[in-house]
Amino acid sequence: MTLPNIPLAGVIGSPISHSKSPQLHRHWLKLYGIPGHYVPMEVKTEDLEQVIRTLPKMGFVGVNITIPHKEAVMQIADLVTDRAILIGAANTLIFRKDGKIHADNTDGYGFLENLKTGAPNWSPRSGPAAVLGAGGAARAVIASLLDAGVPEILLSNRTRVRAEKLKSDFGKRLRIFDWVQAGNMMDHATLVVNTTSLGMIGRGDLRVPLDGLQAGAVVTDLVYTPLKTKLLENAEEMGCVTVDGLGMLLHQAVPGFERWFGKRPEVDRATRAAALR
Ligand code: NAP
Repeated sequence: MTLPNIPLAGVIGSPISHSKSPQLHRHWLKLYGIPGHYVPMEVKTEDLEQVIRTLPKMGFVGVNITIPHKEAVMQIADLVTDRAILIGAANTLIFRKDGKIHADNTDGYGFLENLKTGAPNWSPRSGPAAVLGAGGAARAVIASLLDAGVPEILLSNRTRVRAEKLKSDFGKRLRIFDWVQAGNMMDHATLVVNTTSLGMIGRGDLRVPLDGLQAGAVVTDLVYTPLKTKLLENAEEMGCVTVDGLGMLLHQAVPGFERWFGKRPEVDRATRAAALR
């Protein structure tokens, strides 16, 4: 079945009901008067490949991929961008007219764009960046920071072996700190990034001491529920520049929307409001 001339896109995950992507893409479709649709799709791991191979036949031009399928789609795609290979996961699929499935990871792009907007005076070359956490999101953040020219990444994770794995994947510009000593990274950092899930409603707060932070350092959190986490609240009290995580979610969606619907969308106050609705 096809719906002629009406491009379809969506987001695949499990669970999917919490996703903010439908509100976001529908806001842009309406704003730009594009006759497309964006739908959330709950898909189990065992059905993933069959669903992805069927969607292009139904008029889909691409999809976002979220937890837990970001790694698995790498095996299904015909073409994978270098940054997705480096990160080891993809969040955006493009169904090309020649039948090929193209996979990309735009999380790092979204992270950097959010920083540029929220902390326009931060420069990647200003000094080391302290990264807390070594999960999937950390991989995207670290890849983008190294690519942007950050001289050194100071990395700490509760499970040290995961941080060591990142060092072996990303190389010498990473220095690992034990989780109990994560506060020691702050003395040198001009940027601090929380990529752990701590700080999220119901997860407990991130309790890393910030005392060593230089005034003017930038602190950003990938967690965006709540928008102002305890980490950002404390950093703000210390005179740091803070950037919340919602902007990353909005900016990572831009390349996909542009490829699928042919219009590069703006991220502004109205976009934030639409995602929070
Ligand atoms: P993940 O792969 O599951 O990694 C979770 C990370 O949190 C790991 O480093 C884990 O440490 C750490 N962690 C979890 N519970 C902890 C605890 N009690 N104490 C210390 N560390 C703990 O998840 P992810 O995909 O990287 O996502 C991480 C966070 O980023 C989530 O909150 C997610 O919603 C957010 N995120 C936001 C955006 C955005 O657009 N703003 C995009 C992607 C992700 P261990 O290795 O020791 O378990």
